[in-house]
Amino acid sequence: ELQLRIGLFGAGGVGKSTITIRFIQNIFIGDYDPTIEEEYRKIFDLNDKKISLNTLDTARGEEYYQISWRWARYSQVFVYVYSITDRDSFERIIDFHKSATKCLDGNENYRKILIGNKNDLFTKRVVKTKEGKELANKLNCKFIETSAKNVENINQLFYEASILGIGE
Ligand code: GDP
Ligand code: MG
Repeated sequence: ELQLRIGLFGAGGVGKSTITIRFIQNIFIGDYDPTIEEEYRKIFDLNDKKISLNTLDTARGEEYYQISWRWARYSQVFVYVYSITDRDSFERIIDFHKSATKCLDGNENYRKILIGNKNDLFTKRVVKTKEGKELANKLNCKFIETSAKNVENINQLFYEASILGIGE
């Protein structure tokens, strides 16, 4: 059994808690308390390996767009989440990345993945898929668009993060 820890980061309201709870319990929550920080665990099989995945659903750092030392130490993989309906949340990703880099003594090549969530709200989209891809290229990481509502690419997100974490 391989132990992995991933941290979810992003502006308030982008869906970090909803994504986490969708993955852990397979339910959609419409109004999760935005101030709650919680760690969840799920065990699953990945390429014949048993993964014990701990996910930290962060909160409050969202107001400062900063990653704390504690979160940086915790995270073996950093999952950056924005909402495709919220341009500001997209632009803030770079701030999280900068503060993570700072916590990691200037190392920009830590394990990370970029997520554009709320992909079901296509009529409200303001951040193009192409822009997400471009940012991911810049950050040197993978990019996935998800919907915690429609259960689109949610397992995919955690599998990709786990693959990164185990270094395959
Ligand atoms: P957090 O602050 O990043 O943890 O955001 P939450 O998980 O609390 O989600 C904020 C709001 O967005 C809630 O009302 C969620 O129900 C909603 N939400 C989260 N993910 C999705 C999604 O994929 N699609 C839609 N339509 N709404 C979502
Ligand atoms: Mg939350």
